[in-house]
Amino acid sequence: MLTVAQALEMVLQNVRPLPAATATLGPDALGLVLAEDIASDLDLPPFDKAMMDGFALRASDLRDGRTELTIIEEIPAGKTPTRTVAAGQASRIMTGAPMPGGADAVVMIERCEIAGQSVRVNEPRPASGMNVLPRGREMRVGETVLRAGTRIRPQELGLLAAVGRTSAKVQPRPSVAILPTGDELVDPSQQPGPGQIRNSNGPMLVGQAARAGATPRFLGIARDEIGHLRSLIAKGLRSDVLLLSGGVSAGKLDLVPGVLAELGVKPLFHKISMKPGKPLLFGVCSPHPPPLSQEERGALVFGLPGNPVASLVCFEVFVRSALRVMRGLPPGPSQVSATLTKDLPYRTDRTLYYPVRLSHSDAGFSAEPLAWFGSPDLRGTMSANAFAVLPEGECTVRPGERIAVLRMEEID
Ligand code: AMP
Ligand code: MG
Repeated sequence: MLTVAQALEMVLQNVRPLPAATATLGPDALGLVLAEDIASDLDLPPFDKAMMDGFALRASDLRDGRTELTIIEEIPAGKTPTRTVAAGQASRIMTGAPMPGGADAVVMIERCEIAGQSVRVNEPRPASGMNVLPRGREMRVGETVLRAGTRIRPQELGLLAAVGRTSAKVQPRPSVAILPTGDELVDPSQQPGPGQIRNSNGPMLVGQAARAGATPRFLGIARDEIGHLRSLIAKGLRSDVLLLSGGVSAGKLDLVPGVLAELGVKPLFHKISMKPGKPLLFGVCSPHPPPLSQEERGALVFGLPGNPVASLVCFEVFVRSALRVMRGLPPGPSQVSATLTKDLPYRTDRTLYYPVRLSHSDAGFSAEPLAWFGSPDLRGTMSANAFAVLPEGECTVRPGERIAVLRMEEID
């Protein structure tokens, strides 16, 4: 059986960043990765700019810090000065307005006393350039201000707007088809009959895909019947990623592996040394035989185990990493080292993922193990924001010991 690391390596060998596409730069672009370098179309600021409300003047007029000057003009932000400031003169100026010719400094209004057409200035430390932001100080026209590979956050939206961009080439969001399988499943809106349960993995996977920056597409529930499975899987293979839930174990009605093979999906592994998550299946649907070369691509197929927490963990370890690469990001997963806060006895013959509450303080990360009875216990993960990653063996991890922890919520 492959280890988690070997299986992840195999997934990553077959993932490619998606081809770049043009995106409108609104809130939906948050989290996308730029696929082009961005150059400025102007100097910023585009003119020498006043940084304070006050008086634009010649610093050399203020030899002992004090003087009286004649007011010649008023320059609000958005207006162009019409007069040049000569020796003995000053123009009233507002924050953000262009500096008038002749002036080289702004003295803040709090240090000025206006008396009719003149102003008494008292500036103890006058200097040329004070309170003036010179043209091009932030950026020059033609200068590259953002590189391809940058993740778009609100401040990138601001900078893109400043250089006149309303759209840009980005790595698009991967499309992720979600297909839960099982005759026992009913829609969450329905009351389950005898032997039935509600489909909880479908909405959970939709949420995980959306949180991971993908566009989820729910295909409905597939019955444990070959024809129905085949038509829905064929539909799902048109997405970048197909996530199946259930039907991949060794039961008589675990029909997924056979149908995938029939539709040309080459399995790369089926079963890994992970708990929960052992029956995970991974395959690629491509005209090229795997492993794919750097130029080749195919739809990725994950057959996730039906047990909800197995499905949750397998997504976080494998699917999230694959989606990150498709989006132009490094794969992750974001694992940290944390101090355990309570006894955690365990016994496992495969790498165990155990739900914990991760918190951060001056002392670093700490992880509190939660009450949880295993892979069907989704409710037991409600306080969890991470999973402890525990090596095979039988032992009790003690408070104060360091353990590896996989975070569910992403940080940069
Ligand atoms: P399977 O992998 O199909 O053998 O399913 C394993 C367990 O997970 C069974 O108890 C299923 O009822 C349960 N299960 C499968 N699919 C779902 C789902 N979509 N939502 C909730 N539980 C599920
Ligand atoms: Mg099933």
